[in-house]
Amino acid sequence: MGRIAENLEELRRRLSGEVTLVAVSKTKSVEDIREAYEAGQRIFGENRAQELAEKAEALPKDIQWHMIGHLQRNKVKYIIPHVSMVHAVDSLRLMAAIDKEAKKIDRTVPILLQFHIAEEESKYGLSLDEAHELLESDRFASFQNVEVAGVMGMATFTEDHERVRREFRVLKRIFATLKQEFFSSQDAFKEISMGMSGDYPIAIEEGSTMVRVGSSIFGERA
Ligand SMILES: *Cc1c(COP(=O)(O)O)cnc(C)c1O
Repeated sequence: MGRIAENLEELRRRLSGEVTLVAVSKTKSVEDIREAYEAGQRIFGENRAQELAEKAEALPKDIQWHMIGHLQRNKVKYIIPHVSMVHAVDSLRLMAAIDKEAKKIDRTVPILLQFHIAEEESKYGLSLDEAHELLESDRFASFQNVEVAGVMGMATFTEDHERVRREFRVLKRIFATLKQEFFSSQDAFKEISMGMSGDYPIAIEEGSTMVRVGSSIFGERA
């Protein structure tokens, strides 16, 4: 068994069957992804639009590609035919671009709202107030080709486990609040995407439904 297949097996042992594993393959080769595929992995995460599109063309069609990184509006068109979920949606304008491209090919794209949960400055991610404003807007109500499937967030990169835990708790609370206020009748709103190689065990303890793990599977990135 190759290194990647071994890492995957080890990781699956640690994840409960309830948690979805997104294998983050950004910067990794098609050969590396194929090894993971042959070991049974079907969900892969990429953070650059063009790279996702190229890999999707080159690899088996039953792979589910997740766009996990910040997405520019002018790149949306490259990924829409390929993605099964877009994780980091943090503006109405980006959502509108996804809706428009999805409509063109007559599909509905599941998206996750990205929240700013780290106790440090960041350009990306919504606050709960901003999410309220977005979800209450007429423009949001007009979208027919995006479906909000849950929330996503990244904790601070730190050895301070209590801090990471606090941040994940914030995301869990945001999920519960939005579920109650906006999505109580929508089964599709169910995902809490949190946890990476360095912090997924804490994320799972705090209620993650989807972890995004790269280097623990494929090795460190250059
Ligand atoms: C790169 C990346 C990951 C995976 O990071 P690892 O530390 O390699 O597991 C997860 N989420 C996002 C948004 C990323 O960009």
